[in-house]
Amino acid sequence: MPLHKLNEEDQELYNRIFQQNRKWADDKKKRDRSFFTAHFKEQDPHFLYIGCSDSRVPIGDLTGMDIGDIFVHRNIANVVSLDDDNIMAVLQYGVEVLKIKHIVVSGHHGCGGVNAANSGVHYGKMDSWLDKIRDVRLRHASELDGISDKNIENDLLAEYNVIAQCENLMQIDFIRKGYEENGFPLVHAWVYDMRTGLLHDMEFDMDAYLDNKK
Ligand SMILES: [Zn+2]
Repeated sequence: MPLHKLNEEDQELYNRIFQQNRKWADDKKKRDRSFFTAHFKEQDPHFLYIGCSDSRVPIGDLTGMDIGDIFVHRNIANVVSLDDDNIMAVLQYGVEVLKIKHIVVSGHHGCGGVNAANSGVHYGKMDSWLDKIRDVRLRHASELDGISDKNIENDLLAEYNVIAQCENLMQIDFIRKGYEENGFPLVHAWVYDMRTGLLHDMEFDMDAYLDNKK
């Protein structure tokens, strides 16, 4: 029981989380008695997922992946910021310790973070984070300025943002060196369309990026 005083509705929601958790754990154990003990020993995920914090993008559910399958980092608008200790620690641990072979940056249409960065409105504390997306917008300003439908403009910026964040990944020494020397990790750009529930692979081309940098 939480110590906080909650109204009836909030208390019911809070309790439901623990009830559903017990049911989930029971169901898993019914199907496989050693499910939790086996997973407790180690993790061997094949994917490192960098996604948006948005509550409408349940990456495990929408890909059919279970616990142990995906190492996850989420932030507002799936930004790979090279001066962010949090994501850098996730990436280094994922690549060097867990030896993950696939890093996915996944954005989504209807992204509140992207829409906010593209709105012209200022948001106080959030602005330094949104500036990272505004920088991406600046690079594509001539195309984006020509779009009259704001939803289409926002969704296109969300797609450019994913590509830009993949390019940021390519600047990280242990990712670039790993790929050039061993062929891994591979960097993938995905966009999730909340209107259809479908993921789209934007086919980020690592070699083309590296060739351009030569
Ligand atoms: Zn989002």
